[in-house]
Amino acid sequence: MTVLVVGAGFSGAVYARTLAEAGYNVVVIDQRPHIGGNAYDHDDENGVRVHVYGPHLFHTRSAPVLEWIRRFGQFAPYEHKVRAKLPDGRMAPLPINLDTVNMVFGTNYETSAEVQAHLARVALDFPQPRNAAEHLYGTIGRELTDLFFRPYTRKMWQQELEDMAAAVVKRIPLRTDRVDTYFASEDTQLMPVDGYTALFAEILGHPGIEVRLGTRFERAMLKEFAFCFNAMPIDEYFDFELGDLPYRSIRFHHRSEPDGPPPPAPVVNFTDDGPFTRETWWDALPHHRRRQTGRRSVTTEEPCDYRDNGMERYYPVRTADGRYQTLYTAYRELAARETRMEFIGRCGTYQYLDMDQVINQSLAGARRWLAAQGSA
Ligand SMILES: Cc1cc2nc3c(=O)[nH]c(=O)nc-3n(C[C@H](O)[C@H](O)[C@H](O)COP(=O)(O)OP(=O)(O)OC[C@H]3O[C@@H](n4cnc5c(N)ncnc54)[C@H](O)[C@@H]3O)c2cc1C
Repeated sequence: MTVLVVGAGFSGAVYARTLAEAGYNVVVIDQRPHIGGNAYDHDDENGVRVHVYGPHLFHTRSAPVLEWIRRFGQFAPYEHKVRAKLPDGRMAPLPINLDTVNMVFGTNYETSAEVQAHLARVALDFPQPRNAAEHLYGTIGRELTDLFFRPYTRKMWQQELEDMAAAVVKRIPLRTDRVDTYFASEDTQLMPVDGYTALFAEILGHPGIEVRLGTRFERAMLKEFAFCFNAMPIDEYFDFELGDLPYRSIRFHHRSEPDGPPPPAPVVNFTDDGPFTRETWWDALPHHRRRQTGRRSVTTEEPCDYRDNGMERYYPVRTADGRYQTLYTAYRELAARETRMEFIGRCGTYQYLDMDQVINQSLAGARRWLAAQGSA
């Protein structure tokens, strides 16, 4: 029995590998000319590895995900750091920590307890926050919210914090000590030594898997396959008959410049009202300098609507009233009628997922399907 997988990103690759190892023949198609989905990377003309769709930092708390991914490549520990450029040019640690609070308020706190007391003083009273603004005001107060989150949210989502679900900002950690790593210390943080594309080549390198790139899904394909796991946008599959599921996208402005002093961090976020959200200095990431060329590569990100960026869908939009999640639920009801198809991954299930979450969900989904076939 041959199975079709649409999408050679993490979701499709995990399904394809799991099914192939269970003895199925799998054809993976992707409309792009490369494997890896949004995690795709390549070595550019400056001898630097660049993640073409924005910096991808692998972090997880899942032992099964780690065990699975480590089968396909070598990983090196890497603790990611981000700085936020303040209006006066100073670089503050992000997520907000003890040093960020001292920089913004001109204080000299030394202990977590002092920072907690300060935040408790400046926090506003929102016991039952109804949106992102109320959650942030109730946690860190007005000044930090309006400095670090308000202009950033406006340009990233083209929405006010008041219109956004609290869940969007709850993902961002808050520290009251001096730890300045971007992800929580409970996470295992790793970088694939040979890059993500090489990792995907290993995952998809199974005799039961055939990869067809530059191939767009068409309904007529379905009759050749016993089943289809589909990572394409679910609304597009149904010809948008219930309406569009919107996404934010990003225009990546790549530039090349002579080598210079190291940046304050591999990623710098902008707190100003301008159009750009952040900048990535690729050679400051481990294993990214591949050759010495005397030049380095930097990418600046400019968020936009996906319709203004060649339909490149990156971040599903979450509003405080949950209207797009309601629309997605209606599409799921349509999808339930497709007996030989399951929607998978970020665009198939209309949710923002980190790489480890996609791997976890896809491993579970593939194993469930195999069990239902009696072949797990
Ligand atoms: C800017 C950005 C930064 C990110 N940073 C991180 C990070 O630091 N850490 C982290 O853990 N996660 C990060 N992520 C999330 C990560 O990219 C996703 O978890 C992962 O890519 C999801 O895999 P996927 O297979 O669901 O989707 P994708 O990677 O998007 O793969 C889907 C594939 O399906 C193909 N496809 C779609 N429609 C069709 C069609 N009709 N026909 C054929 N092919 C089709 C697409 O071309 C694509 O290659 C980031 C995401 C973005 C957008």
